[in-house]
Amino acid sequence: MQKLTEHYQQLLGFPAIWEVDDVNLSVSGLKIEVHLRFVGDEVICPQCGVRGKAYDKAPEQRWRHLDTMQFETIIIARIPRCQCETCGVKTIAVPWAAPHSRFTLMFEGFAVALLQHCSSVQAASNILKLDWHAVDQIMKRAVERGLLRREPDDVVHVGMDEKSFRSGQKYITILNDLDKSRVLDVIEDRTLTATKKLLGTLSKQQRKAVKSVSLDMWQAFATATHKLLPAADIVHDRFHISKYLNDAVNKVRHQESQELKKDGDTRLVGSKYTWLRNPEKMTKSQKTRFNELIACEFKTGVAWVLKNIFRDFWNCSSGLRGEIFFAYWCELVDKTKLKPLIKVKDMMERHKGNILNYFKHQVSNAISEGINSKIQLIKATARGFRGFESYRTRILFYCGKLDMKI
Ligand SMILES: [Zn+2]
Repeated sequence: MQKLTEHYQQLLGFPAIWEVDDVNLSVSGLKIEVHLRFVGDEVICPQCGVRGKAYDKAPEQRWRHLDTMQFETIIIARIPRCQCETCGVKTIAVPWAAPHSRFTLMFEGFAVALLQHCSSVQAASNILKLDWHAVDQIMKRAVERGLLRREPDDVVHVGMDEKSFRSGQKYITILNDLDKSRVLDVIEDRTLTATKKLLGTLSKQQRKAVKSVSLDMWQAFATATHKLLPAADIVHDRFHISKYLNDAVNKVRHQESQELKKDGDTRLVGSKYTWLRNPEKMTKSQKTRFNELIACEFKTGVAWVLKNIFRDFWNCSSGLRGEIFFAYWCELVDKTKLKPLIKVKDMMERHKGNILNYFKHQVSNAISEGINSKIQLIKATARGFRGFESYRTRILFYCGKLDMKI
């Protein structure tokens, strides 16, 4: 037994004031319990760092440590409490774990690295043999560490996006740094109050440096931007405009399909995604299906063509050319008499200045799209979040580009 405790003393490598007192091995339970005893002769107040008087010992606590071979390894100890003249009675800090954590630092470090490399949180949880809550706590602490370490450097081009949460009834708003392609922060809701709070997470210095904010034509976003970033230009970029145009095409398709169905015509049924794909991204069979549909001269086809023509707007070589293109496109839309499309066009006309701002800043679309699809994946593999906080944690964990090392 003596040998085993010595072996673990070396293996753990904790300071000598923590002595391995006992090691219990349960072969059937595949578990090793390592009991530690405090043998130091002084206790330090964790709050002010001053030496205090030993008060008593807190009740026994357990920490999950890295496995020894295939054996789940648990550290068990009673931590001394220190009586400090200034701070009162406090539990001293231990070298192996962060306060209130049920895991050792080494275990958490391993868990974070594994989570970062696993395609799904579920897969990592299975390897770690941890439940949902435990993984959530580890990720939360990692994100907190990362946010504290973040340098308050300048952000120049930012983007603000809404995302549905909990099957579309609720929204979250995400603030992205488009130059470094990372998520800065996430907030529940998409109201003016929420958006102002989100922009308020930037320091005064950072807010001064922001030159453009890419967003959709949601009024609360614009108002919050005017209030908190008065010097920044609002840009309604390609990413945001295409969302509206896709939506308009989809509405035209839905209405038309309903009308056709009355006469027993089901040609448009199930064609939603056919109209949303970009032609260059279609597979051979998708292209065949699309060609069949477009040959039918549906109103949906007309809406699709108009949506597709607008993609060339972003390729205009100057703001002036863009403006001419825009006017021409608006005329074409008016001629279609398709209400959902005209509604979006009217809105775009009201925000023309901000759409043309694109030519001033030329912010890439790829960043917003990349972050968006990553978040989509987080949402899809999460099987229902228990709350906004864990959604935010996962977004920042995977898209925040944070330094989360132990
Ligand atoms: Zn103190």
